[in-house]
Amino acid sequence: MKFLYAGGECKNHCFANYGGCLVHTPKTTEILSSEEIAYQLGLLTSKHEQAFVYTPDMFSDLYYKSVFLELPFYDGGFPGAYIAVNASVRTLIDKVKDFSDLLDRGIREVWFGIESGDELMRKKYGKPNFSNSEVAFTTKELQRFGIHACWYLLDSKDDTDSSRLATYELIRECEPYRIRIWPLEDLEDLSDSETKT
Ligand code: SF4
Repeated sequence: MKFLYAGGECKNHCFANYGGCLVHTPKTTEILSSEEIAYQLGLLTSKHEQAFVYTPDMFSDLYYKSVFLELPFYDGGFPGAYIAVNASVRTLIDKVKDFSDLLDRGIREVWFGIESGDELMRKKYGKPNFSNSEVAFTTKELQRFGIHACWYLLDSKDDTDSSRLATYELIRECEPYRIRIWPLEDLEDLSDSETKT
């Protein structure tokens, strides 16, 4: 999978109590033009590469109009394209009423920062507000359209047996296509450095 960074900075403030956002991506306020994105996607897909059009959240105000709506339509764009994006459960539900809009743009994989199946843990992490039933709805609806729904999760020092069980049960219920569990030590390091300052 080749990464195509669309640029821009995330306006959310997740993990403020843990030393700040754990996502380390090139930071630039400038967003690539739609022509540049289409050009680079064309190069990748002509080589049959899978492309991750990387934004913190493809459906946030910052990227929805300037990137998502500008992606070329699948039929007239890049046949066979396999495009992955990051999204928030909240913004995807609020902005996209018909998930075939994603398929039309060649999007075959969507990653969500679920972090935990325990809603109190998510609150602690400062994640944008969404419920477990919305996670389940979104994940299953994407699957119904043949789109791979994937989750980022965390296991932190603040987790308990009960929060881990909630995460496990949510995974069992929704069966995401892929899961990436953020390394525990990253979070602990940030948390430690925060207490030292
Ligand atoms: S939405 Fe993602 S990129 Fe933005 S602050 Fe939260 S974790 Fe970081």
